[in-house]
Amino acid sequence: MVDAPRLILVLGDQLTPGIAALRAADPSHDVVVMAEVGAEASYVPHHPKKIAFLFAAMRKFAGALRAEGWRVAYSRLDDPENTHSIPGELLRRADEFGASEVIATQPGDWRLIAALEGAALPVRMLPDDRFFCTQPEFDTWAEGRKALRMEYFYREMRRKTGLLMEGDKPAGGQWNFDHDNRKPARADMLRPRPPQFHPDAETEAVLDLVASRFGGNFGTLRPFWFATTRAQALHALADFVEHRLVDFGAYQDAMLEGDEFLNHAVIGLYLNAGLLTPLEVCAAAEAAWRAGRVPINSAEGFIRQIIGWREFVRGIWAREGPDYVARNELGHTRALPALYWGAETRMNCMAQAIGQTRDQAYAHHIQRLMVTGNFALLAGVDPAQVHEWYLAVYADAYEWVEAPNVIGMSQFADGGVVGSKPYVSSGAYIDRMSDYCGSCAYKVKDKTGPRACPFNLLYWDFLIRHRDRFAMNPRMGQMYHTWDKMDEVRRKTVLTEAAEFLTRLDAGATV
Ligand SMILES: Cc1cc2nc3c(=O)[nH]c(=O)nc-3n(C[C@H](O)[C@H](O)[C@H](O)COP(=O)(O)OP(=O)(O)OC[C@H]3O[C@@H](n4cnc5c(N)ncnc54)[C@H](O)[C@@H]3O)c2cc1C
Ligand code: SF4
Repeated sequence: MVDAPRLILVLGDQLTPGIAALRAADPSHDVVVMAEVGAEASYVPHHPKKIAFLFAAMRKFAGALRAEGWRVAYSRLDDPENTHSIPGELLRRADEFGASEVIATQPGDWRLIAALEGAALPVRMLPDDRFFCTQPEFDTWAEGRKALRMEYFYREMRRKTGLLMEGDKPAGGQWNFDHDNRKPARADMLRPRPPQFHPDAETEAVLDLVASRFGGNFGTLRPFWFATTRAQALHALADFVEHRLVDFGAYQDAMLEGDEFLNHAVIGLYLNAGLLTPLEVCAAAEAAWRAGRVPINSAEGFIRQIIGWREFVRGIWAREGPDYVARNELGHTRALPALYWGAETRMNCMAQAIGQTRDQAYAHHIQRLMVTGNFALLAGVDPAQVHEWYLAVYADAYEWVEAPNVIGMSQFADGGVVGSKPYVSSGAYIDRMSDYCGSCAYKVKDKTGPRACPFNLLYWDFLIRHRDRFAMNPRMGQMYHTWDKMDEVRRKTVLTEAAEFLTRLDAGATV
């Protein structure tokens, strides 16, 4: 008697040929299961571009596996027999193929891990080893430390990977070249943009499906230009390294109206879905530096985002567990304002960041952190609602990477696990790093009055609301000192106007 085949589960963000579950499988015997299901496509209202990217990339990955000789049972969203959940599809396929065991690679989402653990047939979950740092390694590093700081973790990763190392010393004599970075950028019509990939017939079919099923979600589906195969994603990476990496360091914090990508790589969605591997991405950046094509501050700054931040947040997500997304250390309860879903706003920085999010399912790090994230934190928005928004609207968003960035870094809702202080700023920071303020209805230099920049008002309001918690923070004492030196009438006016602003915001007025 021939042994029953095993089902090999490959999820939409596991499109890597060498992923653990595929490595553990027997191509001549086992059946790969891939499924577009309602549960995954709608647990938050994902941006239509994000759903289209994943479905198109999944269909092409399934095609590539078949071409290599794998048996693939692929469920399309509109298959009449589709049960619309991952455990449901596994059961259906188990019946179909007489299988009684599933091999999976651990999902990056606690909700889905629980669903697999609760499935009505045994699922063997293998660690997702597409990261430089294993979870036991991260836990060992974290054990006994008073605070987990990315910078120290990053140095360990440099040593471990050998990236940008000269023996046991960091290349260029420093671990971090950020003092050469953080420059504002000037508008430049000639700045190269990421390559755009014309949808083929298979992607077009997905676009039609997504338009009919998810057309009401926040976000513009067409024009659709993302890479949907590994070959295209490699092309996007090569294009970044050749044209934009050179100034990545200098301009990584800059924001410009109408220039959504500046010198960013726009590869997060490909890395997170598995079309690119972190090692090949970092190796390409290092090779460009060694060949003298890009400066060290750009190569180092870029590699740090991947072997530093990306690995660090993965470790935090796994270590902190399923309740992390529900944390709310600052007790914030305001509903997410409608302007996040496209309602009109007079704040130009918010209109720019949210407008490009709607059009491209993309905003770069500083827009996410210092514009939309900063505003939500200053206004005291419920972090769970902020988390759901980020998870829905960005093409690169998956819980393992989004939650530590939002709940931790951006909203300080974890009480300081990810960052040592909240990322808050007044309008001055946005003005320094962007050209947004020039065409805003508010005046960034106005601290009070009818045209005062809301970030200026809310900044002080936030600090005063949370004085008990932050006054003793050594990195924030200076801010409280500045407040205390302000004249009393002015202090009163700031707090009154901030309260009035928040009342208008809650009432749904255009702010
Ligand atoms: C509030 C907030 C939410 C975020 N949500 C996500 C998310 O859902 N998914 C996601 O991948 N990133 C997230 N980030 C991190 C970062 O903004 C994106 O990785 C980046 O903007 C993706 O665009 P890019 O490929 O052009 O990145 P680049 O700026 O070119 O950076 C290169 C790569 O570095 C990695 N990287 C950079 N910063 C981080 C970081 N903080 N954490 C993890 N990886 C990082 C990404 O893989 C990225 O592709 C978030 C950041 C903030 C502040
Ligand atoms: S003035 Fe304030 S609200 Fe307007 S763009 Fe500048 S920071 Fe944003």
